[in-house]
Amino acid sequence: MTDKALVVLSGGQDSTTCLYWAIKRFGQDNVSSVSFDYGQRHKVELTCAREVAARVGVANVCLPIDTFAALGGDALTDASIDVSDEKDSQTGLPITFVPGRNLIFLTYAAAYAYRRNINHLVTGVAQTDYSGYPDCRESTIEALQRSIELGMDIEMQIHTPLMHRSKKETVELAVELGALDAMALTHTCYNGRRPPCGVCPACELRAKGFEEAGVRDPLLDIG
Ligand code: ZN
Repeated sequence: MTDKALVVLSGGQDSTTCLYWAIKRFGQDNVSSVSFDYGQRHKVELTCAREVAARVGVANVCLPIDTFAALGGDALTDASIDVSDEKDSQTGLPITFVPGRNLIFLTYAAAYAYRRNINHLVTGVAQTDYSGYPDCRESTIEALQRSIELGMDIEMQIHTPLMHRSKKETVELAVELGALDAMALTHTCYNGRRPPCGVCPACELRAKGFEEAGVRDPLLDIG
């Protein structure tokens, strides 16, 4: 098993914190990052991911997955659906839930890692305090790790440093890892605004975390 790690970097607050976590754990030379262009409405995320990776001197590759937009029905890829904290009336899940997204991201990340002799994946999913996405649960990730190991016949560890942290604790970790300044480069807003809109569910959750941690979000001070 190698000590090389691949971080799934969305350009958001959580994956950026995970990138810093991975650098501390594995060393900068052993870390690279992958982002996915999955037809998200806000391509600014991908620019953010590139900028965050460049800031810490880590490679960032962007892989295209154009099937999610074709599936339709979720607010993050379908421009006809307003982003809100509404729930899908059938599933009870948030309308921002993109079914299978993390499963597919991590499977592609594993395939990419396989080719490069990387045995560690790092993802910012968390089951605490978040939007209730079932593919962020620890049991989902454990099952996926097992599937990847069996299906690719390799050893692959999926690290989830934020799994049991609240948003407040995630902000505290970012401070501890020296990642706070990089937060100005990240993107969270579901409405695609920079500086953030402050009223969408993602902005509200982010603001709550910073407020509870007693830390000023550097993203609020960008020009
Ligand atoms: Zn927003």
